[in-house]
Parts: sequence; structure tokens; C-alpha cells
Amino acid sequence: RAKRGGRDRSVVFADEMRDEAIDRHDTEQQLRRAVSDDQLVLHYQPIVELATGRVTGVEALVRWQHPTRGLVPPGEFIPIAEEIGLIVQIDDWVLEHACQQLTAWQATNPELTMSINLSGLQFARPDLVSLVAGVLESTGANPERVALEMTEGVLMRDAEDAVTVLRDLRRLGVRLDIDDFGTGYSSLSYLRRFPVDTLKVDSSFVSGLGGNAEDRAIVQSVVALAQSLGITTIAEGVETTKQLQVLRDLGCKSAQGFLFSRPLPPQELTQLVGIAGVVAPLP
Ligand code: C2E
Ligand code: MG
Ligand code: MG
Ligand code: MG
Repeated sequence: RAKRGGRDRSVVFADEMRDEAIDRHDTEQQLRRAVSDDQLVLHYQPIVELATGRVTGVEALVRWQHPTRGLVPPGEFIPIAEEIGLIVQIDDWVLEHACQQLTAWQATNPELTMSINLSGLQFARPDLVSLVAGVLESTGANPERVALEMTEGVLMRDAEDAVTVLRDLRRLGVRLDIDDFGTGYSSLSYLRRFPVDTLKVDSSFVSGLGGNAEDRAIVQSVVALAQSLGITTIAEGVETTKQLQVLRDLGCKSAQGFLFSRPLPPQELTQLVGIAGVVAPLP
């Protein structure tokens, strides 16, 4: 009996694997179509300067407007897109559309910065610098108001090469930010050589700022590290006024998180920035 039960289980298991393979194949096909059929959309999350409460920038975050599944978050399709190389086309699309939107907002908000995420594959493209230069030119976006975000892992993959690419990007006038800082393994000597402007403190450390002494110590040292390098910090994932208070005490420059606003469709963000100007619930 035990043996039969075992076989049944393995049959069920094989079925599940086949179903998963079909699902996966389906998802890949649909994702390719999403890019060619313009089913991607961008939402924008405000980035708030803590000293003033001003929205100084927004981060462009991609979503997939799926015909039946609704709005699919990036965590559910970016990993697949990275595996099949489609992330390059997605990042191209995002770069162009985020820069177009920036140009539109710049008419009324010339100080506003647009932060744009780059995947590892995109960062490794030999033509990245000319690609970014081309989009800046064709969209009319002010390079000084564009910030490109890369994770530590992406930069450390080939750190020597990354130094060169970052320098070349910098020469275009764009800002360079390290995303999810603290989750990777940056070497301090490379951090000193990377010409970056900002460390984005990962939300996993921000979430403990209410009471966790270790998280407070980590964020404190990231802020101190940034200050000693002459660069700034943005805290990610700020959800409570307590976290905000600690971040201000520690001297963190800016923050983003649900406390201020979720990522919003462009029309809603226009209202938020246009009417309010200041959205931070400063305690
Ligand atoms: P990320 O670049 O670190 O973006 C921040 C993520 O944190 C976003 O998730 C944002 O919605 C979420 N977030 C912001 N504030 C809070 C908060 O207070 N609480 C919580 N729980 N979450 C908060 P999202 O939009 O789901 O994006 C997830 C990740 O997907 C991004 O992390 C980024 O790595 C990737 N991604 C998004 N858009 C793009 C893109 O255009 N290109 C590439 N290559 N990756 C992208
Ligand atoms: Mg980011
Ligand atoms: Mg991040
Ligand atoms: Mg993240």
C-alpha cells in the first residue's frame, strides 16, 4: 500500500510539474506579447526630502496591465523577464516612457527628478551609454533630473568594468544611485571609486527602525558612510511616523514609502505634486 501511495504521489507530482511548465511557457509568451502590445504601465512613487517635506523626485516602477489578471506587480514578472532576457526590452521601454513623462512634468516642476531602475542585463549592455544618451536627446529630458538606480550586486558583478560604465554615464550628466543598499556585498574600496550620488537604504533595515536597535545601528552607519563619501541617502519603505522620526534624527536626506504615498498612476501623481507640493505628514 505504501508503495502504491508513493507511486500515486509521484504521478500527481509529475502532473503538477507539467502544469507548471505549461503555465511558465504561457507566462513567457504572454510577457513577450505584453511588451510588443504595450501592456506595460508605469506608476510613480514620490521621494520626499525630509528637511522640507518637499517631493523632490519620483521613482518609476513598472507594472503589467494583464488582459485578464489585472495589474501584475513587477515581482511577479521581472524575474522571468530577466531569465529569458526580455528585461532588456522592458528596461528600454521604461527608460523611454519615464523620460517622456519627466519632460511633461518638467514644464511645471523643473526641479523634479525621475529615478529609473536598471537590471543587471541592461547595465551590462555595451551600448548602454549611447542608448541613454539617445533617449535623453529624443525625449528632451534634462539629464540632471534623471537618476539611474543599480543594485550593489549588479555593480559588484564586474566592479572594475562598472567603474568605467558609471563614469561614462556620469559624463552624460545623469545622477547615479545604488538601490537596495545593504543587501549586497559592496567592497568599501569600490564604493569609494564608484562615482555615485546616493545610497538607497534598503527597506529591510528601515522596517526595524521603530524599536530594533540593530537596524538603527545599520541605518546609522549607512548614513555615516554616505556622509563620509560626500553623497546622500534615501530611505526606502518608510511606513510609520516613528521610522520617519528616527531617519530624521540620523540625518537621512530623503525617503519614500507608503507613509507618504504608494506608487501612483501619472494622473494621480500630477494632482498630488501639482496641488499639494508638500505631501509629507511631518510630525
Ligand atoms: P525597488 O527598485 O527597490 O523599488 C521599491 C519597491 O518598494 C517598489 O515595489 C515599491 O512599491 C515598494 N515600496 C515602496 N514603499 C513601500 C512601503 O512603504 N512598504 C512596502 N512594503 N513596499 C514599498 P515594486 O513596485 O513592487 O517593485 C519591486 C521591484 O521591482 C523594484 O524594487 C525593482 O527592483 C523592480 N522594478 C520595478 N520597476 C522596474 C523596472 O522598470 N526595471 C527593472 N529592471 N526593475 C524594476
Ligand atoms: Mg529602485
Ligand atoms: Mg530599492
Ligand atoms: Mg527593492
